[in-house]
Amino acid sequence: MLETTSNFEALAQQVSPSTVIQRDEPMSKHTTLRIGGPADVYVEPANETDLTAILKFCSERAVRFFVLGRGSNLIVRDGGFRGVVICLSSPDFSRIEIVGQRIRVGAGAKQRNVAVEAKRAGLSGLEFLEGIPGSIGGALRMNAGAMGSEVFNVVEFVRMMDLSGKVHELKSTEMSARYRSCDALKNRIALGAVFICTPQPRETIEARMKAFSEQRWSSQPAAPSAGCMFKNPATIPAGKLIDELGLKGTKIGGARVSLEHGNFLVNDGDATARNVLELIGFIVAKVKVERGIDLRTEVEIIGEE
Ligand SMILES: Cc1cc2nc3c(=O)[nH]c(=O)nc-3n(C[C@H](O)[C@H](O)[C@H](O)COP(=O)(O)OP(=O)(O)OC[C@H]3O[C@@H](n4cnc5c(N)ncnc54)[C@H](O)[C@@H]3O)c2cc1C
Repeated sequence: MLETTSNFEALAQQVSPSTVIQRDEPMSKHTTLRIGGPADVYVEPANETDLTAILKFCSERAVRFFVLGRGSNLIVRDGGFRGVVICLSSPDFSRIEIVGQRIRVGAGAKQRNVAVEAKRAGLSGLEFLEGIPGSIGGALRMNAGAMGSEVFNVVEFVRMMDLSGKVHELKSTEMSARYRSCDALKNRIALGAVFICTPQPRETIEARMKAFSEQRWSSQPAAPSAGCMFKNPATIPAGKLIDELGLKGTKIGGARVSLEHGNFLVNDGDATARNVLELIGFIVAKVKVERGIDLRTEVEIIGEE
């Protein structure tokens, strides 16, 4: 627990002045669902040295930490997070550099910005990232995918820090990525990655991104959400299942099943995490009773009641 002022100040002394550090930071400001109570401490390390110092601080004091990307696959409960939330969004972690067919990207870079830079350089392979509102760190941890592609199709290697602060590089083949997960990053922090792309005319890439965007926005709600809430069961897409059971539009408090897409739960403006979690529970129970299927969340749930 990092509740005392002295602990907070002790952490602030371990890092450089350019590291952003906030106390009792509302996580609703850092999740795309726009919900979540306060983190005891929220920190944006300025560089790898400061990140190492934060990990050391947490380890020495047995303080819990959570690595946050852009909070687009995340529910933080209303009681917030007891510990330190670390977000790699500073400029040092957000670089995008292109060398030949390779794109070297920091974990804090936005997925959309990477897709746009790749297009500008006439490099194909990352178009599917254009509509995913996360960071590259989140994309690597989740093996984010869309339109028939996924991140680990184009990863050459990932640079990462283990919990003792040691930096490693692993080839994609050494990382056991699978559907919406990369186990090698469960207990490591992705610092960045190198993607290998294929040269193509810019107009071709542009057209593909436009088609992907049209396809996405024809079926996806604009209201705040965390994307697809449930993993697709083997037999049927979760959205179709929820639609077939007539659950679209079901509402608990400010949380609602989207009318556009059954697998999106949206925040109508005043939703709490409790509303969303109750709605999840209601859907899971209904699906089990009606179809005998165990629906599992794709979105990660953290924090206190
Ligand atoms: C409107 C909308 C559309 C979406 N569409 C898609 C889609 O088409 N395809 C898809 O796959 N997903 C989609 N998502 C879900 C989400 O955007 C992706 O999973 C994204 O990759 C998560 O990135 P993030 O930075 O927001 O991660 P977060 O939500 O912040 O975190 C997700 C997980 O990644 C971990 N993490 C974050 N950064 C790091 C790091 N540097 N090192 C190690 N672990 C880290 C976190 O600890 C957490 O476990 C969508 C979400 C929304 C809101």
